[in-house]
Amino acid sequence: MAPTETERQRQGAPAKCAACAGPMDSPLFCDHCRSLYPADGLNHFELFGLAPTYDIDPALLRQKYLQVSRGVHPDYHSTGDSSLSLHLSAQLNEAHRVLADPVLRAEYLLELVGGKSAKEDKSVPPEVLSTALLLREEIQEARTAGDAAALESRGAQARAVYERTLATIAELARQMPGDERSRARLRTALNSIKYHQKLLTEL
Ligand SMILES: [Zn+2]
Repeated sequence: MAPTETERQRQGAPAKCAACAGPMDSPLFCDHCRSLYPADGLNHFELFGLAPTYDIDPALLRQKYLQVSRGVHPDYHSTGDSSLSLHLSAQLNEAHRVLADPVLRAEYLLELVGGKSAKEDKSVPPEVLSTALLLREEIQEARTAGDAAALESRGAQARAVYERTLATIAELARQMPGDERSRARLRTALNSIKYHQKLLTEL
């Protein structure tokens, strides 16, 4: 369904193309006269005309990404301004990279609602650190001993901890903007999952 006038305005898109006054489905380009517009001030969700929520249909995101990328491609638009086209294309790639990743998407949502950054709040529960440390030791021991079964079992444990933390992140990210407490909990879960991600890359 095409976005309504109000939705387009809320998403920061011009309701009408400044060049031909035709209606615009994307804030970045006009399908009628093929004018191109800068994405200044648009967040990652707005670039694709998506609501800023954690739950995104991956197929829809992919579809929007391809559709908008095609619209800003130098072969498609009429301005001949390939630097703007390249700039928009880079923005779209970055937005897609962030939104397609569940952890980066939650991090971005937290940033959008004014939550603390990883630099501002580095808190990690002590038990997360001790679990990660213990698992790392056990993985190293199993590897040194050439114990494939133990390595397999510790690997499964590490993946399970990662999945649990990701589930917590999803649950909290769905509540955004939430209150200060839920934003702080999301910050902590995002800080924690970095330890689990690191562990998985070492397997
Ligand atoms: Zn136009």
